[in-house]
Amino acid sequence: MVSSTLISKLRKIATPVQEEEIEKCFFCGKVLSTDHRHLVDLAAMRFMCTCEMCIITQAESGTYKPLPQRSLRLEGFNMSDQLWSDFLIPVNMAFFVVSAKRNGTVAYYPAPTGATESKLKMEPWNNLTGLNPILNTLTPDLEALLINRLDDAGEYYIVPIDSCYKLIGMIRIAWKGIFGGKEVNDAIRNFFNELKETSEPCPI
Ligand SMILES: [Zn+2]
Ligand SMILES: [Zn+2]
Repeated sequence: MVSSTLISKLRKIATPVQEEEIEKCFFCGKVLSTDHRHLVDLAAMRFMCTCEMCIITQAESGTYKPLPQRSLRLEGFNMSDQLWSDFLIPVNMAFFVVSAKRNGTVAYYPAPTGATESKLKMEPWNNLTGLNPILNTLTPDLEALLINRLDDAGEYYIVPIDSCYKLIGMIRIAWKGIFGGKEVNDAIRNFFNELKETSEPCPI
């Protein structure tokens, strides 16, 4: 005999739950607009949705860092196919972050489990910053050079790292099988189409 509580539980599972789309401040619970800012706990690599007031009070505590707000589309970025291959990234998309703790630049690229990381060799990174001096302005740990070479004309951006982790999360959800499949490429293209519209053009 099936108990009535089990039936009501099964009914609950079968009923589609309305997606909760309202985001609230992690610290005070205030309802946030869609363009709200994030704080990051770098030790745990956790992002917190935050209101303007809590950005100020929490940033003083030192545990959380406010993410920079600029989002730049780099026009005329200099990166030859040869220089790209010197970085030994196995896919056509990656983001590079200058790591204060690791005294160098680290590349992250998508994989079925999320982001895979590899420390970059100094020489190609120095060549790249020599060709594109704007890379010297990257805020260590908090901003990334985001590279998309999926299509012939590559795209290059400077964005806060929460944007990159959002992309990695979308890729993880879309990933199928060993190579990721069409859904992954669609997710990447959608993300970059949106970024192209919301970022500020920045000639090199
Ligand atoms: Zn708040
Ligand atoms: Zn948020």
